[in-house]
This record gives sequence, structure tokens and C-alpha cells, in this order.
Amino acid sequence: MLKLLQTRLRQGYRTSAYPKKPIQLHPSYRGRPEIDRDCDPELVQRCAAACPQEAIDAVTRRIDLGRCVFCGLCQQLSEGKFIRFSRDFRLGVAERQHLLCDGEFPDLAAHSKQHFKRLFGRSLQLREVSAGGCNACEADTNVLNTPFFDLSRFGIQFVASPRHADGVFVTGPVPRNMKTALLDTYQAIPTPKVVIACGSCALSGGPFRGSDEIVPLETLLAVDLFIPGCPPHPLTILDALLRYFQG
Ligand code: SF4
Ligand code: SF4
Repeated sequence: MLKLLQTRLRQGYRTSAYPKKPIQLHPSYRGRPEIDRDCDPELVQRCAAACPQEAIDAVTRRIDLGRCVFCGLCQQLSEGKFIRFSRDFRLGVAERQHLLCDGEFPDLAAHSKQHFKRLFGRSLQLREVSAGGCNACEADTNVLNTPFFDLSRFGIQFVASPRHADGVFVTGPVPRNMKTALLDTYQAIPTPKVVIACGSCALSGGPFRGSDEIVPLETLLAVDLFIPGCPPHPLTILDALLRYFQG
């Protein structure tokens, strides 16, 4: 017991000071894209043709971050001349069309629903539904419960029962086999309730987009908060939750 206490004292307080203090992510992290809209049209066309997610619109020169899996191919092909991914992890948006990115993002806090802030700003309980995801979105969400992020210090918790939840947090592309389970979970949550879509799969089907085996989430439920990434970094998820509900 004494040894345990000594170890604990030696380790000290390990929880991140974020959001009071900024966090620098590793240089290889790909976050908010910076787009040169005056780039050579031929290069833009090449990037659009190569994108595995058909996420680049060569005419409007926007990336659909709901589809993008942040593979970095467009940055590599254009040598950063058309698209360069920054280390800015603040990617959450309140409306699907805000993910059609030209490099600028609307302020999430300004677009969040005021009644959700009043109701859930100090206490938010979420039920996670892993709807056919590869487990990376789920893993990066689980990480928020570790001492480093300590999600519960913000009054946000993941709960086991939808009856105890204020909303559903969906990851994965929603295969047909998960449709009923997802809808049953949503129905079991008392109103008012919030719907959060996390990761490219939940936002657009991700790598499974177009498959007959999936049912797009937006055809089942009205999503309130969209968190892009494949998977989204835990800080992207945390930042989106804080700005949407407490910003
Ligand atoms: S990073 Fe996104 S936009 Fe670029 S090629 Fe990959 S999926 Fe397409
Ligand atoms: S968005 Fe990417 S990381 Fe998340 S479940 Fe889909 S494939 Fe996996």
C-alpha cells in the first residue's frame, strides 16, 4: 500500500491542462486543411481524380471533410501546393454543409443549439453506438476516459443505458444489421436528445460509401453535431463536445 502511494505521489497530476493551455500535436498529424484556391487547375484535377473518397470538388475547390479519410494523398500529390493539412484539430461542425471546406470553418459554438447548451452544458450523458465501425473511432473515443483527458471533469460521461442518456454518439457506417439496434437505442433515450456523428463512416459511409450493405445515418436520424476524421483525434472529439455544449 505504501509503495502504491509513493508511486502515485511520484507520478503527480497527469491530466492535460487542455483547454486552459493549448496542446501541440505531432507534426505528422493531419488536421484542418489549408487550401490554395488559386492553385494550377491541372494539379487540382489530378488531386480530385486520385482521391479515394471522391472528396475533392475540382470546380469549387473544396474538400468534403465528411468523406475525407485524411489519407494525405492530395497533399503528397500537390506537394502541399493545393492542399496542406495543418495541425489544427478543431474540426467539429453543427451543419453537414459546413464540412464542404474551402479552408475556412464557421464557428461551431455560434451554430450550436442554445437549448442543448442550457440543458446539457453542465451535465451530458451519452450512449455510444458502435454501428459497424473498424473500432478505431471507438478506441479514440474511449481514450477520452483515461486520466490524461479525464472527460468527466467537464461533466460529460458515456453511460451504459440509453435510458440514462441525453443523446446518442454514433460511430461506424451503420450496416443494415445495426439499423434496428441503433433506432431502438435512439427511441429509448428520453427527449430532448442529441445525435452526434463521429468519424467519416458515420458522416458519409467512409470507405464503405455507396455499399448496399449500409444505411446512411442521415437517412435515419437528424444529426446535431458532426465530427470528421478517420478516426477523429480524441482532441477533435473533446473540442467539438466542449464548443458545441459549453462554448
Ligand atoms: S486526404 Fe482526403 S481529400 Fe485528400 S486524397 Fe485523402 S481522402 Fe481525398
Ligand atoms: S471513420 Fe475510419 S476509423 Fe472510424 S470507423 Fe470508419 S474506417 Fe474506422
